[in-house]
Amino acid sequence: MQTLGAGAGLLGLIPLPARALQEEATLSGDISGTNTLFTTCGMCASHCAMIASVKDGRLVKLDGNPDDQHGRGRLCGKGNAGVSLLYDPDRLKYPLKRTNPEKGVGVDPKWKRISWDEALDTIAAELSKSRDQFGGRSIAWLGYHAGKDLLRALGSPNDLCHHTKCNSARVIGNLGVFGQRYLAPDMSETRYILGFGWDMPGKGKNVFAGPFAEGIAKGAKAVIFDPRQSATAAMAEEWIPIRPGTDIAVALAMIHSIIRNDLYDKAFVEANVYGFDRLADSVRDKTPEWAARISDVPAETIERIAREFATTKPACIPHYKRGVHVMRREGLSLINAENILCAITGNIEIAGGMFFPRTPRVVRNRPKKEPPEMDTHLRIDGAQNFPVLNPHPLSGDGLIHTIAEGILKEEPYPLKALIVYKQGLFAFSNPNRMATALAKVPFVVNINIYPDEMACLADIVLPERTYLERKEINARSLFAKSPQISVFQPVVEPLYEARELDEIKAGIAERMGLADYMPEHGEAALNEQLKYLEMTYQELKGMGLLTFRKRFKPMDLTKLNTISGKIEVFSQLFEQHGYDPLPVFKDDFVLTPTSEYPFYFTTTRSPLNFHCTTENIPWIHEMVPENMVWINAGKARELGIRKDDMVRVESIHGQIVLKAFLTEGIRPDTVCVPHGYGHWSKFLTRAAYQGANDGDLMCDIPLQEMIRINDPSANAADSDILVRVSKA
Ligand code: SF4
Repeated sequence: MQTLGAGAGLLGLIPLPARALQEEATLSGDISGTNTLFTTCGMCASHCAMIASVKDGRLVKLDGNPDDQHGRGRLCGKGNAGVSLLYDPDRLKYPLKRTNPEKGVGVDPKWKRISWDEALDTIAAELSKSRDQFGGRSIAWLGYHAGKDLLRALGSPNDLCHHTKCNSARVIGNLGVFGQRYLAPDMSETRYILGFGWDMPGKGKNVFAGPFAEGIAKGAKAVIFDPRQSATAAMAEEWIPIRPGTDIAVALAMIHSIIRNDLYDKAFVEANVYGFDRLADSVRDKTPEWAARISDVPAETIERIAREFATTKPACIPHYKRGVHVMRREGLSLINAENILCAITGNIEIAGGMFFPRTPRVVRNRPKKEPPEMDTHLRIDGAQNFPVLNPHPLSGDGLIHTIAEGILKEEPYPLKALIVYKQGLFAFSNPNRMATALAKVPFVVNINIYPDEMACLADIVLPERTYLERKEINARSLFAKSPQISVFQPVVEPLYEARELDEIKAGIAERMGLADYMPEHGEAALNEQLKYLEMTYQELKGMGLLTFRKRFKPMDLTKLNTISGKIEVFSQLFEQHGYDPLPVFKDDFVLTPTSEYPFYFTTTRSPLNFHCTTENIPWIHEMVPENMVWINAGKARELGIRKDDMVRVESIHGQIVLKAFLTEGIRPDTVCVPHGYGHWSKFLTRAAYQGANDGDLMCDIPLQEMIRINDPSANAADSDILVRVSKA
């Protein structure tokens, strides 16, 4: 058990070297005479507001907008690196058509430059052919939920996305207990931060890093359970190296201890909580001693932290995408237990606790004509089997890990055309199988900024503008305590032949005779969205941010969108659909290392990376050119592995070779591979062939197995694997 001083390594939160690099690269000359423009960072989903400095028509610098609730005047290293993304010569510049009929991993598409007209005519003709012969269902959109309008017009239910490897356990967990998808920690005002594998400051998430640093600088205690000493754990007062997969046992034992010792907030529970007695019954045998036997965390530590958490108010338990709740089967129960710990201690909707973000209303643009009803709700990823996750094909999330299976088996029908948008191949467990599936789809379009692996597997590649070249408005939905709207605007003349996504979709729809089914796009559509505020896009551009300054007024917690209206620690929504209504521990959540595979596996991401899409950005590549496997230094000595040695990491599903990073900051029985590397597209001139892909060690879980597991979030849980490590 390691205990570090509070606030240790605070400066590590803001990747200063990236800023220094930027200044060296762009500000070595005179910066007088620069114009400044408001815009928003699109590098990750936090969407921090930015101020762009432009000189002689060229972007020279990006800074955080101090009025922003998300970035609070700061940008992370990724945000700073936007300048080098904009001017990266590796960017896609014009539409491309593949001339090589062979498709697969490492295969050169032998691209030929084509005009936009030829590209859009070809796409419209191919999509029309698929729809006319096989119905709208034969077409899918894969990637960010940005294609719903086109899918609706086409009559397809297949809005495929990565959420079951990202946020589904969290949002479904929140939905079950609170009746809404988002819940945020108020860390800058808290006195206690408890994290289970939570490492968002360490992953460079500006929206978490700033408030976390501020909270602990003001004296909040932070306790982090994690098998690895993440950057967040290093800054916390206590790092507790828990056995992988056992966080839920500790969380349940904390609930047990708080109830048994009468430390819960009785008045709050009485007024706002449904199902408390059934919760209490369910944790009666979940003692700290029971959890200690499972988790390697001493019973007295569990008891102490439970007492501290319950008696130090306000307190919060931050959770976000890609935490331990995504990687492991315990995920949904862990999120439920975390939410319940906050609820029974009265830490919901109070300053310094957990709060529901105040999302401003933004009017949705509607099409001229409503498209006809689609003829099936059956989807290629089987998401209709998960009604809480996917109540309607185009109003929920899908399963990433069953897409390849659906395509390869042609179940429930063959897929004939696919549009891929903002979706890296390495987001898939077992990406080579997904590449085989993509090669089977007769026609694939990729809308992209970089010529990455997805582009290499497509028939037509379309260049999209970066977020620094497009118009958009962003209603804060994840963390805002006050409603706030932020603007995206082109900070320079858009480069090359790249186009905005809405323009691309409209071009396809128009050629297919579907224009009336698509909403308006462009500045007129943005004006329409802002009309109820009596404001135009041009006016918002001048302001950058529109903040509805309201005093934080707690919501009525008896009028939530749950069946009882209250916080449901016994979720009637889950019960209604045949899922566990309470958080549970199951024996198969925990793996036992064997002599053949003696290590637990875990994954993370560098603070300078986002998904698998940033590794080639010049300034980011310069800072983090490759990933390395974290191995406990003592264990490495036993294995004869030295720093920077090339090592082979093998699971029953596959193997990768990469450099060793030796540290005391990881359990001796655990190794960690940061995500995002191992690119094989030779067109990514920096990132190609650097490091290795963690997904090669994982398998995608079959649909029938997902149905058997009966998890309403359909969590991919693909890091529940054991590995062995040897010198390569
Ligand atoms: S956290 Fe970083 S990458 Fe994400 S929006 Fe903010 S500045 Fe951009």
